Amino acid sequence: MSSLQKTFFIETFGCQMNFHDSEKVVGTLISQGYRQVQTVDEADLIFYNTCSIRDKAEQKVFHRLADFKRLQQQGKQFAVIGCVAQQEGEKIFERAPHVSLVAGSASYRNLPQMLVQIGQGQRATGLDDRQTDQTFETEFTARTNPHRGYITIIEGCDKFCAYCVVPYTRGKERSRTSESVLAEAHRMADAGYTDIQLLGQNVNSYSDPLGKASFAELLASVGEVPGIRRVRFTTSHPRHFSRDIVDAIDSVPTLCEHVHLPVQSGSNRVLDAMYREYTRELYLERISWMKAARNKTFSITTDVIVGFPGETEAEFEETLTLLDEVGYDGVFSFKYSPRPNTPALEYADAISDEEKTRRLAVLNEKQREIQRARYAKHLGDIMEVMVEGYNRPRGQVIGRTSQNKTLNFSVPPGHAEPAIGAYVNARVTVTFPNSLAGEMVV
Ligand code: SAM
Ligand code: SF4
Repeated sequence: MSSLQKTFFIETFGCQMNFHDSEKVVGTLISQGYRQVQTVDEADLIFYNTCSIRDKAEQKVFHRLADFKRLQQQGKQFAVIGCVAQQEGEKIFERAPHVSLVAGSASYRNLPQMLVQIGQGQRATGLDDRQTDQTFETEFTARTNPHRGYITIIEGCDKFCAYCVVPYTRGKERSRTSESVLAEAHRMADAGYTDIQLLGQNVNSYSDPLGKASFAELLASVGEVPGIRRVRFTTSHPRHFSRDIVDAIDSVPTLCEHVHLPVQSGSNRVLDAMYREYTRELYLERISWMKAARNKTFSITTDVIVGFPGETEAEFEETLTLLDEVGYDGVFSFKYSPRPNTPALEYADAISDEEKTRRLAVLNEKQREIQRARYAKHLGDIMEVMVEGYNRPRGQVIGRTSQNKTLNFSVPPGHAEPAIGAYVNARVTVTFPNSLAGEMVV
């Protein structure tokens, strides 16, 4: 029987949304009788779930397709899904004729029909669903981690920031009902999950189709599901980051002390050109709410783009001063990458790659020093960590704090090593710019 069963391999590029979409695609394929394998060689069907947020990410899939073209002769089929699929559409068939299926994320609920089509030797596309009101909900999600799981609460994005492909590739915003999100959280808790991450390109634009819960209320309700110990969410847009979100985090113990709030730039002129819909001052107001929280110490991280068209040296420096003013615990920094269909593509005054590289290095160096000082403040703290794995060569257990910081710790002799997924307390004895180290408190 198993030798007749069709097999698939899937490789995922890009963000957490893509990783979670892949978990749902895997569940859907398994429900259709396919078996997942870990190598391209063993697979009948090869899936690439792609990312086009920056040029480099987009190129990766074409390299993969070129590398494995020869495998078509062995009867293998190729599927390109995700943002590059949606962006390039049927052009992918021209560039890589060995591909059989091209589908954007708004079409995944039609995957079973597409699989039938390619099984009959036809090409299948799923590219016309971006105006849908439906989300990709499936009872077949194949989660890879047994302790921490994702729940998509909103798909798509209506923001149209001037540099970003997401609204074009993931389609318009559509929220899941609070009932279905909560039902999934309960199912996950029953299955032993303790850590839930709510996902969306723009989670705080969440709008319950039932009109029952705001984003903050949904967040609090998920945090109150019995058995759930940690709830995170990503990504928030500063414009709609309302005070009730801060209040919910501060008052519900399971809601993690970490907010990722992408700022992109510290300059009002650049923010305006990016269509971000907020100013530096409005952003800093949000930060001040978090800093004023009564019960919790918020850890704040962000995304920054350097070298946006026309960004002057003085404007770049405004981003540097913002880093100091906020005191981030982590910054994901990117060189601006011109993207198809986006308004910024037409902007004058492109910054040279050399200059973007320089600004990125300056920013990263500055942030490293900020983090060195911030992480050093944890020396002597006792923090609860969730065990994620082991670093055998170092004899350490790998843990993660509520603030989303890595805390690697040793276990005192004579004490049992905690299992993956367990929660234990550890005391910080050494600090680095990106992680903490210490010992388990027994
Ligand atoms: N929706 C989220 C938001 O608004 O912050 C994040 C979306 S995107 C997947 C993650 C990050 O990629 C963005 O915050 C931005 O910093 C970066 N990014 C998006 N488009 C980019 C581009 N064209 N060039 C460089 N970085 C980009
Ligand atoms: Fe892209 Fe802006 Fe939407 Fe984030 S909010 S996904 S950066 S368009």
